[in-house]
Amino acid sequence: MTALSKFLSWKKGNTIISWVLARLVFQVIFNRDNVPKHIELLDDTLTDHCSRIKRNRWVGVINFIIRPRFVRRLVENRLNRNMESHERVILSLDKELTKEDFFPKEKQKRQKWTNWFGNHFSEPLQFFVPGNGEYKDFSPTAPHCEAYDYEGLEEVCSLVKLAEKNGRKIRAVGSGHALTAVAQCEDYMVCTQDMNMTQRPAREWIKEKYRNGFDVEVNYCNRKETEIHYLFETGGGTKIRHLIQALSHHGLALINQGGSSIQSISGAIATSTHGSGIGIGPVSAFAKSMTIVGKGGRIFRVEPADGITDPDIFEKDEQVKKHGITLIQDDDKFNAVMVGIGSVGIVFSMILEAQPDYRLFEERILRNWEDVKKEMMEKGMYAYINAHRHFEVLINPYCDHEAATAEGKKRKCLVTTRNYSESESGSHHAGRERNYISSFISGIAISGRLSPWVFNKNHLSIPRMTNNSLKRLVDHKEDAGGGFEDLARNVLDQGLGELKFYGYAIEFGFPLEKVFDAVDLIIKNCEASQEYDQLLAAPFALRFAKKCPAHLSMMNQSDMCMIELVSVKDVTGSYPLFMRLERELLALGAVPHWGLSVEPWHRPMVEKAFPRFRDWEKEQEFFGGSTFYNAFLERIRQS
Ligand SMILES: Cc1cc2nc3c(=O)[nH]c(=O)nc-3n(C[C@H](O)[C@H](O)[C@H](O)COP(=O)(O)OP(=O)(O)OC[C@H]3O[C@@H](n4cnc5c(N)ncnc54)[C@H](O)[C@@H]3O)c2cc1C
Repeated sequence: MTALSKFLSWKKGNTIISWVLARLVFQVIFNRDNVPKHIELLDDTLTDHCSRIKRNRWVGVINFIIRPRFVRRLVENRLNRNMESHERVILSLDKELTKEDFFPKEKQKRQKWTNWFGNHFSEPLQFFVPGNGEYKDFSPTAPHCEAYDYEGLEEVCSLVKLAEKNGRKIRAVGSGHALTAVAQCEDYMVCTQDMNMTQRPAREWIKEKYRNGFDVEVNYCNRKETEIHYLFETGGGTKIRHLIQALSHHGLALINQGGSSIQSISGAIATSTHGSGIGIGPVSAFAKSMTIVGKGGRIFRVEPADGITDPDIFEKDEQVKKHGITLIQDDDKFNAVMVGIGSVGIVFSMILEAQPDYRLFEERILRNWEDVKKEMMEKGMYAYINAHRHFEVLINPYCDHEAATAEGKKRKCLVTTRNYSESESGSHHAGRERNYISSFISGIAISGRLSPWVFNKNHLSIPRMTNNSLKRLVDHKEDAGGGFEDLARNVLDQGLGELKFYGYAIEFGFPLEKVFDAVDLIIKNCEASQEYDQLLAAPFALRFAKKCPAHLSMMNQSDMCMIELVSVKDVTGSYPLFMRLERELLALGAVPHWGLSVEPWHRPMVEKAFPRFRDWEKEQEFFGGSTFYNAFLERIRQS
């Protein structure tokens, strides 16, 4: 490309974006009804006519324009005309858009903790931030990452002892991303943000055969193969995005991850958080050794029976003796600790299985759900899904009956597949940004606030808007985008950015043979609510995860399809529809996600969904006991 043609295409792209932006401003001032359409247009333009650099620049310009309070007030004023009071938009640049939750060590009393959705909060008697890691300026290259934070470990022990001495309960919290009250605690709350000092390949006390990589048999793409994986030691409070940086610094990567990297690794493990790929277990399945502080302030290093630690080397070590660390290598105990819902103690550090850094190629294809379903039935569900390392489907709960063609009226879904990339290239394929969620919405400061307004204003168009947003995600070999290829961490992290404050989800697991029944039930319920103008403002997702031995994992009984229902906060009717759907899905035999549910949990439901719950309770008594109860667990225990 010559410099001149480069300049001309740069100029053309910028002219188009300025024109689309100007038209949006015009619509805000003179014709509010058309605003949602023009927002979509701007998003399409930013997606299709922009390189990543150019888009960031435009997002910066838009943020600059809307920064002054009077501009936002003006827009607010225009948009709120004739809107019901509960559906009005408030475009103030809220603190959560710019600030990450960060808790100062010195403020131990009158602290307030809220989960991300804001439906649960705690004003604990005392709030502690133990550990000697660095959260705000985290760097995997800091020299302290090579050391173990014994001082922090002792600090946590003394907090547990203090709680017991004062007859109080104690509980660790991660990033507060659970929608359930699983992290809530009224007594002593332990913020784990600084429990992230250690970030190093695990070699200390490790059996020789695991020290420098070990063979693992994997089954992706319907082929069994052997890969070499490695062990990595990380602090229990490490945020997943920091862990990814630390792994990458050592040439390693996570085997899989959920759609977001904001959670802490212990929080994700504690609820069996998962990504998608029927050959890959949830994040908890990557844990090979967990160091926890349990009741009495006792320190345990818990592993499966054939664990990675060499007991002989371990028992002789001076630090082990000094801190009184007990090695437990026992399957039942490890399976209880792996997914511990915060009640088996405080996870101070862990050793994870990771693999050498790898690249993925992602394709996203728009299909009719009925066609995909037919193919799944013909080819066999497992083989169909396992034809790719990662496979997931986003389904529109509604059909667009207003579409011009018979084809357009069919139920749309987006099939996403990801496979190891054959490209050795160091530069990723990102001529255009890979998707709506990670580009437009996460960049522009008011877009999250605007989304509920767009959906409430145009609720009857939600089926069409959902189809449009699925279309915008399309990106495959035969399409102009050509698919998306990058380092796995960039492909697997869906960004979500500020959207997390506005989107929310509930999730339920089903064995593969029950997936179609569950999908039909969801569609039936969504369509029934549609008659009352109450709709979900997003497609629902089918994701898949391999069986995991943890007693409380949603995947404990079999490989699972996890169905995630998503909507946007403040979209009228979504929350009650979630409640109805949750009840119906549970009656169909769903296994609820410990972190993503809106209905109260009780013993009969838990024992049905998690048949190993009583085994877990036995081990919980051993490790955590009543010191680590909270209201959420008490309700289950006593109901
Ligand atoms: C935007 C978003 C995206 C999400 N994506 C996915 C997804 O793709 N897949 C999926 O399966 N789930 C997903 N979830 C759910 C989320 O992963 C879980 O709720 C997870 O538990 C949240 O981790 P956290 O660090 O925020 O933990 P918190 O919500 O703070 O705590 C969760 C539990 O972990 C315990 N805990 C935390 N730290 C420790 C510790 N150090 N020691 C002992 N216990 C501890 C707490 O006591 C609590 O019981 C998502 C949630 C959000 C908000």
